[in-house]
Amino acid sequence: MAGTERIDSKLPGVGTTIFSTMTALAQECGAINLSQGFPDFDPPAALVDALGEAARAGHNQYPPLAGLPRLRVLLAEQLQRYRGVTVDPEQELTVVPGATEGLYCAITAVVRPGDEVIVLDPVYDSYEPAVTLAGGRAVHVPLTPGDFAIDWERVAAAITPRTRLLMLNTPHNPCGSTVSREDLDTLAGLAERHGFLVCSDEVYEHLVFDGAAHHSVLQHPVLRGRSFAHYSFGKTFSVTGWKTGYCVAPPALTAELRKVHQFVAFVAVSPVQHAIAAFLEAHPDYPGTLAAAYQARRDRFLGLLADSRFRFRPAAGAYFQLLDYGALSDEPDTVLCERWTREHGVASVPVSVFQQAPPAGQTLLRFCFAKSDDVLEEAARRLCAI
Ligand code: PMP
Ligand code: GLN
Repeated sequence: MAGTERIDSKLPGVGTTIFSTMTALAQECGAINLSQGFPDFDPPAALVDALGEAARAGHNQYPPLAGLPRLRVLLAEQLQRYRGVTVDPEQELTVVPGATEGLYCAITAVVRPGDEVIVLDPVYDSYEPAVTLAGGRAVHVPLTPGDFAIDWERVAAAITPRTRLLMLNTPHNPCGSTVSREDLDTLAGLAERHGFLVCSDEVYEHLVFDGAAHHSVLQHPVLRGRSFAHYSFGKTFSVTGWKTGYCVAPPALTAELRKVHQFVAFVAVSPVQHAIAAFLEAHPDYPGTLAAAYQARRDRFLGLLADSRFRFRPAAGAYFQLLDYGALSDEPDTVLCERWTREHGVASVPVSVFQQAPPAGQTLLRFCFAKSDDVLEEAARRLCAI
């Protein structure tokens, strides 16, 4: 095509996301798709009804820039109820068209050319391109192999006078690990001492298993004052295609985020906001039911794999389970992932694509267990037969 060869890409190393790639391959092969993270079951019927009602009631034009006031109040109530934190819905909470957009706006708002942003590998794929486009540099620090805990000595060693931001993700995608209260204390000490900000991706906040609690930066007295916290209705209400979420940050950070947000998307989708508000008003307890429901799915999947040759640590949170295939193959995860999708009809995601320097000999695939019982059963049957 004439002219295109002259384009000097701002993201030369970036291709199509692994999620889109693997979903397309699963569809092409007719494979069970445990790759991309989305539920294969319906959202609550009352929520779907509320969306139709919102559209029919005429909520089809631009809502306020920061989000529907009624929804923001309800979300602040949810944060009080589930995290015990007080948030000003006027000045600290912004409804966004998906956490991806909120994360992009937060990064763009605070990262300047030459700034460094610490990311913890394996790292969710949307952060680094946003840092790069802002002229910053992502500094990759690996999580500890095995349990994927944060190695704070390595984080401390990566901090420089240019460190502007640290990206946190708990519960973690793709690893299913979570941070502790002590992790947040350590992070707070470093952030305060070195003067950097924190961008905390907590989209799986309600999916924490085995009776453990989610630890949010919003609950930490120091981090509360220097963090963005991101949430997604796609995860909480099983509506990933509705692309709506929200971001909480202190007033000064929220003001900067909104400056960017108003020119990236301007607003989040109006009828979706009305629908979520109506649903939350009627069912404020719904998010509290999710952990048990997803833990049952995790346990079902792992129970079915108990006699397989995969090794695993049950995910502590989110809806992804890592399986170690080391006893079955020594092929690279990227190769095996594609081959097994074609040959065994189960699509997953290779973990190495989320790492700058994958450890030699790592043999991990990520499987999404936000799927119905019969799908998990058939997937496990196929995996056990490998
Ligand atoms: N962060 C993480 C860790 C995710 O897994 C996802 C969703 N897949 C997002 C952000 C993006 O959420 P949304 O779909 O609301 O943009
Ligand atoms: N976050 C989802 C996952 O981890 C997918 C989101 C996307 O496809 N961009 O699979």
